[in-house]
Amino acid sequence: MSNLERLEEYIKRCRLCRLAINRLNAVPGEGRFDADIMFIGEAPGKSEDKQGRPFVGAAGKILEEALEGAGIKREDVYITNIVKCRPPNNRAPLRDEIDSCISYLEKQIKIIDPLIICILGNTAYHTLLKGSSITMNRGKLIDYKGRYYFLTIHPAAAIYNPSLRSVLMDDIKSLVRITKDLKKRGLEGYI
Ligand code: SF4
Repeated sequence: MSNLERLEEYIKRCRLCRLAINRLNAVPGEGRFDADIMFIGEAPGKSEDKQGRPFVGAAGKILEEALEGAGIKREDVYITNIVKCRPPNNRAPLRDEIDSCISYLEKQIKIIDPLIICILGNTAYHTLLKGSSITMNRGKLIDYKGRYYFLTIHPAAAIYNPSLRSVLMDDIKSLVRITKDLKKRGLEGYI
């Protein structure tokens, strides 16, 4: 068993915060342990809680379409969330829940060591980069503490606003292009 798999198994048994009470399954994340791109959303929803897998509901379908439109598959990347258990009624995770869970994400980032972390939506943006408006900043690549972050909207935002699907698609295409460039040119001084 790899270090990442061991961590995922540990997360599945975690009861560190109140989100363990009502969850069906913790959702550690899934994908390649050596992925170039790591996607980080907010929290599991109903379908994810049921299946124990990230981004498998309506938002996941939109993300998969955007990935395919950019020429990659979800198996090529790693996908996870800021918190690993579903908040009741899909509310945003609370500060103390994020604080309890964040060390798992930090460990995942350390093990996977992706070329780029793609931030999906405001919760991940605020938690990881202290940002406040993903809509204003989406499409940007940021170098923060020696790591590259790409910003885009959460796919769930496109469920009821179909015009955002093309925004997400275009962003994911840019993300894939930048990732290929980074691999070719090396990480130093890209921005
Ligand atoms: S949300 Fe994170 S800290 Fe809370 S119980 Fe789930 S895995 Fe543990």
